[in-house]
Amino acid sequence: MLELLKKAVEPVLNLADLFYPRLCLACQEKLVSAETSICIRCDYKLTPTNYHRINPNPVLERFWGRVELEHATAAYSFNKGGLLQHLIHQLKYENKPQIGLELGKMYGSLLKEVAPYNTVDYIIPVPLHPKKKHLRGYNQAAMIAKGLALSMEKQWSSAYLIRTDDTETQTKKSRLDRFSNVEHAFGIHKKAALEGKHLLLVDDVITTGATLEACAQTLLEVDKVKISLAAIALAN
Ligand SMILES: [Zn+2]
Repeated sequence: MLELLKKAVEPVLNLADLFYPRLCLACQEKLVSAETSICIRCDYKLTPTNYHRINPNPVLERFWGRVELEHATAAYSFNKGGLLQHLIHQLKYENKPQIGLELGKMYGSLLKEVAPYNTVDYIIPVPLHPKKKHLRGYNQAAMIAKGLALSMEKQWSSAYLIRTDDTETQTKKSRLDRFSNVEHAFGIHKKAALEGKHLLLVDDVITTGATLEACAQTLLEVDKVKISLAAIALAN
């Protein structure tokens, strides 16, 4: 039945492509009908890690001895000057929330098949400070969370984990400074609703992991909660 339906709508989709061509998020070339958001040529340039199927992996290792996690993963490795860096830059600084949504959807279709990700109850993005959100217009991690939720058929919410203070910008600080800087920056709303749940904490890029660590520590204040992490990229 689904196949029949697909066959029936395909010419319509192709016709729509003719008038409103869908463009590759990375290179802006026209997509052909089988391509959803990134063209085959660009997709080939991305380096999937497959970490969601591997234990231990470099993301888990980055958090060893820092915070207790069920599992942790990043979709791609991050190469300086590479296509992924270009995509993340557009997502964060060039008003392209769609990129977060699509990357999330792509990764979600892989995560939904694999334990422990298939047991997640809520997907929770790392919160952006309201001031920054106001400037950017959206939280890029929330866009990724939304994409993940769509393909994993799970709920996402930015209502539980909130930013409680105005930390300075992270980029010019050492790792130790960064941690003390974000340690008390987060709080939880509606704690009781998260009791006993498996939460998937989501960010765009993992660098030192300080922000994710602080978020995870905050969420671990909830009774019997389990936490996994997913990001789009792991930076070296
Ligand atoms: Zn492309």
